[in-house]
Amino acid sequence: MTNKKPIVTRFPPSPTGPLHVGNVRTALFNYFFARQNQGTFIVRIEDTDKARSKKEYEDNMLNNLKWLGISYDNEVLLHQSTRTPIYKKYLEKLIADGKAYVSPETEGENKEVVRFKNPNIKITFADLVRGDVTIDTTDLGDFIIARNIYEPVYHLVVVIDDFEQGITHVIRGEDHISNTPRHILIQEAIGAPRPIYAHLPLVLAPDRSKLSKRKHGEMVSLDYYKELGYLPEAIINFLGLLGFNSGNDQELFSMADFIKIFDFNKIQKGGAIFNIEKLKWFNKEYMKKLYAEGKLRPENYLAEVFRKNRTEEQIKTLFLLVFERASTLNDLKITEENPEWNFLIKNPEYEATRLLWKGESDAKQTQKHLSFVAEKLQKKGASKEELKESVMKYAEAKGKGSVLWPLRYALSGKEKSPDPFTLLNLLGNEKSLERIQIAKTKLSSL
Ligand code: GLU
Repeated sequence: MTNKKPIVTRFPPSPTGPLHVGNVRTALFNYFFARQNQGTFIVRIEDTDKARSKKEYEDNMLNNLKWLGISYDNEVLLHQSTRTPIYKKYLEKLIADGKAYVSPETEGENKEVVRFKNPNIKITFADLVRGDVTIDTTDLGDFIIARNIYEPVYHLVVVIDDFEQGITHVIRGEDHISNTPRHILIQEAIGAPRPIYAHLPLVLAPDRSKLSKRKHGEMVSLDYYKELGYLPEAIINFLGLLGFNSGNDQELFSMADFIKIFDFNKIQKGGAIFNIEKLKWFNKEYMKKLYAEGKLRPENYLAEVFRKNRTEEQIKTLFLLVFERASTLNDLKITEENPEWNFLIKNPEYEATRLLWKGESDAKQTQKHLSFVAEKLQKKGASKEELKESVMKYAEAKGKGSVLWPLRYALSGKEKSPDPFTLLNLLGNEKSLERIQIAKTKLSSL
C-alpha cells in the first residue's frame, strides 16, 4: 500500500502575448505527467503585470489549449490580478516576521519597494531532469518581492499560488532555473512545502538561439502554425518529442501514447531544436491519415473554378497531385491566384522559344511533333491508354525530350509540372487541343 500524495501540476501562462510554442511544450509535459498519474492539471493566469496582460491573450491561450485537446481540471480559473488581498496578507506577515522589509528606492518610479531578507545560503534542490542543482543565493542580494504592499511581483505570487493550489510538481522551462532558489527561500519563509522541480530544456531555433518573439517573430506563436493548416495531432507529436527521447525508433505518438510513455528520465538536458521540416513531416503523416479516413475532401480545398467542367476522376487526380506536394492543409487550397496551378484554368503565356527542347532549333520539327499528338487526340473513341502508348512509341522513335517537352510546355507553360499525360487528362481533349494549336502558331513565328 502506498500513500503517495496525488500529483498536481500546473500551467501558469502570463497573458502578455499569444500562446508561444515553447509554452505549449511545457503545458503538454505537465499534462502528460498529471494524466499518467491520475493527478490534477491546473491552468492559472499569471496576470500580475497589469500593463502587459490582456484579455485577448488569455482567450487566445485558453482557446488554443482547447484546440490542442489539452483539458484542465480546475473549474475556476485563478487570476492573480484578483488576489491582491491574499498576497497582501502574506506580505504583511513576512514583514512582521522580519523576513522582508520595506526599503526606500532611489531608482525607478517607486519610492519604496518590499525586499526579501536574503539569508545568503546555498540551496540545493533535486531536479527531475537535471539532478541535484546547487545555487548560492548570496549573489541575489535582498531581492524585490513587491513594488508596494498591493503590487507583489512574480516571485512571491508564484510561490503563494503554488502553495495554495497544492502544486506537487513544478515543471517549467529551464529559463526559470535561476528563479528557483528565490522561490525556495520564499517557501521556507512562509512555511510552504517545497514542490518537486523539473526544468525542461529550452526550445531553440535552428541556429541554437533561444526561440524568442523578438528574434523569430510570429514563428514562435501557435497561431502561426494553426493558421497555416498544421493539425493539432502533428503539433502535439512534434512538441512532445522536443527534448524527449522515446528510446526507440517510433516517431508517431498520440496524446494517449505520450501519457503512457512520459518519463522524466527520457528528457534530455541540452536545448531542443525546433526543426520546422520535421514538423512538416509529422503534419503530412497526419494529413495522410485524414485522407485515408476520407476526411480530406477536394471540394473543401480546390476552388470551384478548378472543379467545374471536370469529372470526378479528374478532380481526384488533381487533388492527389496537389496533396503529394503539400505539407499543410493550406497547401491544399488552390485558388485562381495560385501561380503553381492557375495554368489549369488559364491558358499559359510564354515565349515561343521555350517550346524547343534543349539544344534544338527546328521549330518545324517541333510543330510536327505537336501535330502528331493533336491528331491522336482528335481520334474519336481512343482510350487514354492507347493515346499514351502511341505518343510514347512516337516519342521513343523521335527523341523523348523533343516530343514530350514541347507537349508539356504547350499544356502548362511551366518548367516544372506534372507529366504531359496527366496534363492531357486534367485539361481534357478540347483545352489540350486549343493549347497545342496556340503552341503551333507561336512556333510559326520563329
Ligand atoms: N508565468 C510564468 C511564465 O509564463 C510561469 C513560470 C512558472 O512556471 O513558474 O513564464
